[in-house]
Amino acid sequence: MSIGAHVGVAGGYAAAVDYAVSVGCECMQVFAKSPRQWQAKPPDPAVAAAFRERLAAVGMGPVLVHTAYLINLGSADDALWERSYRALADELVRAELLGASFVVTHTGTRFKDAPERTAVRIAQGVDRAWALAEVEGVRLLLENTAGAGSTFGDGPGELGAVLQLVDAARAHVGVCLDTCHAHAAGWDLAQGAVWRDLMDGFERCCGLPVEAVHANDCLFGAGMHKDRHAWIGDGTIGYEGFGHLFADERLRGVPVIIEMPGEVPLKDAENVSRLKRLRDASLVRASRA
Ligand SMILES: [Zn+2]
Ligand SMILES: [Zn+2]
Repeated sequence: MSIGAHVGVAGGYAAAVDYAVSVGCECMQVFAKSPRQWQAKPPDPAVAAAFRERLAAVGMGPVLVHTAYLINLGSADDALWERSYRALADELVRAELLGASFVVTHTGTRFKDAPERTAVRIAQGVDRAWALAEVEGVRLLLENTAGAGSTFGDGPGELGAVLQLVDAARAHVGVCLDTCHAHAAGWDLAQGAVWRDLMDGFERCCGLPVEAVHANDCLFGAGMHKDRHAWIGDGTIGYEGFGHLFADERLRGVPVIIEMPGEVPLKDAENVSRLKRLRDASLVRASRA
């Protein structure tokens, strides 16, 4: 598993790679545009090329792009729904230009008054975005949510329901597990047996293992539906919980990304190093077994 962080790009994309190196990242996640706006300047090929060169020079990868928060593929409002899948297509194009391997997106909210239509709506949005984007080198990962309010996609059941309905894009779509969200949604990841249940659930419902992990500890208790990230080991998942992450064979090759509150660079340097210590400890245990 490679370990990295979500890194800000306010200082430029190439500088973000240098920052990621400085805090110990082996992989990284970025926004391809402002996450709180629909509109953005067209991507600059020169900036993207400089980013790709810097990544290659330092051996950083894979790169994940996190989509804008406004995207709501479950919206019952046709105009907002269309805006959402068009925005997702734009993110896919930007991600490919940046040399990213994965685009991670939240799916959106429950279809108003007819929740049973949500999965179909989201799946159709995914297919439309994929058709518009015409990308090749990127995988689209649907991220699980904490299941708060009307948000859809709280685990293997709901994400699997979407994946089973995705048509033309099916071979290109998978799942990103956010540990804080899963814990808040009701999977108590402090317990090894629950970890294994959750991983089994993704394989069974989605037909494939998790392809990326957002490793965030959770400030509030399991099942409280409160999405507040805590530093690794300081929350209710705890060091033992993240130990289970590194013990799971099915997650061997996946990128593990932290999305932490707090001040840079300490929040990233400290949490990356906490995860690396847990990874090292699991390797030692595996070699003794
Ligand atoms: Zn996340
Ligand atoms: Zn979150």
